[in-house]
Amino acid sequence: MTNNFKSIPSNLMFDALKNEKAIVMACNVRITKGILKGIFKAAKKTDSAVIMELAKSESDLTGGYTGLKPKDFAEQCREAASETGFDIWSLHADHMTIKKGTEEEIQELKKLIDAQISAGFNSFALDASFLFDFEGKTVEEELKQNIDVTAELAEYIKEKMVDKEFGLEVEVGEIGKKNEQGMILTTPEEAVVFIRELNKKGVFPNVIGIANGSTHGNIYDEKGHSTAQISINLEQTKAVAEALKKEGFNVRLAQHGITGTPRELIKKKFPAGDILKGNVGTFWQNIFFEVLKVMEPELYTDLIEWTLENFREKAMEKGCKSDEEIIGKYIKFATTAKDENGKLLFFNRIYSLRNEVELALESRAYAEAILFFEAFHSKGSAEIIRKHIKRIKG
Ligand SMILES: [Zn+2]
Repeated sequence: MTNNFKSIPSNLMFDALKNEKAIVMACNVRITKGILKGIFKAAKKTDSAVIMELAKSESDLTGGYTGLKPKDFAEQCREAASETGFDIWSLHADHMTIKKGTEEEIQELKKLIDAQISAGFNSFALDASFLFDFEGKTVEEELKQNIDVTAELAEYIKEKMVDKEFGLEVEVGEIGKKNEQGMILTTPEEAVVFIRELNKKGVFPNVIGIANGSTHGNIYDEKGHSTAQISINLEQTKAVAEALKKEGFNVRLAQHGITGTPRELIKKKFPAGDILKGNVGTFWQNIFFEVLKVMEPELYTDLIEWTLENFREKAMEKGCKSDEEIIGKYIKFATTAKDENGKLLFFNRIYSLRNEVELALESRAYAEAILFFEAFHSKGSAEIIRKHIKRIKG
């Protein structure tokens, strides 16, 4: 393997593109077979910067629900980058979620950060957005715990990275959270206060994830039919981006939960550049299963049956209305399904698919990634980053 195709710190991408009208696609590739390589090939073809990422729930010290530990994912990404010969990509730890803010939870996360750093991750998303104090009298008070925990962990990453560069994403506003009035949206004031307070603590994020009307994963209507996502509030999104720029902060937005958003709408309406990072996760999993359905119907049926058997009750309680919806929301757990003896049921079958299937996965991912890069206006973004790196490193 050549060193030329190692990942680059995402801060270099974000700095280089912060005044361009482009969105860097970040892909949560939960099942890597064929798909990773297809995306890298499309990145190479269009010379688009790309980020590969998995969240803590997807990949942790024991593998998360994808069964991939940070080291596994990192190695597979490097291999795909190297085979493809593509250089401008970053390895990102998505949603390093802190839900309670206890010392124990923070220590656990630090262990994961250690593993990610030794695996070569050079971009991190700290997500303490759950720590919102509804009793707080001011925005500062409401966000205090999120600010403190985010700053502590950012400091930890900096210390552990020693003199190496890295990119940092932070989160304010829980994504997809609803109340009686509908989706809860992050206000410009919340975003400004959050970044200002972090800056005061010496933490300077490159991108910030906000709640702006998107939902993670596949979405369904009241009858449980799959439906397109057109709920992202672009006015509010632009208002948040403007407020941050007005303060002179060097931070842009990360759009979460893009799966299901029509690409022609993204291309036409998304404020590219204000949104500088766009996360696409479930989409890649969906195409994996679409290919499987045709080419490996037996395995596909086994995965579906396992999902319905194990999640129907829970899903119904949570308001799922159809088998289609249950499958769409829960099949992600099937990859690492185990039998009563703890033996993996499907993982090895998935990762030993015949070449023909792998090629179909690769081709499908390639074509879809081309459409995303087009919609994200990111064609040629890699060259801008190369020039930026050359300029600053000489
Ligand atoms: Zn997300």
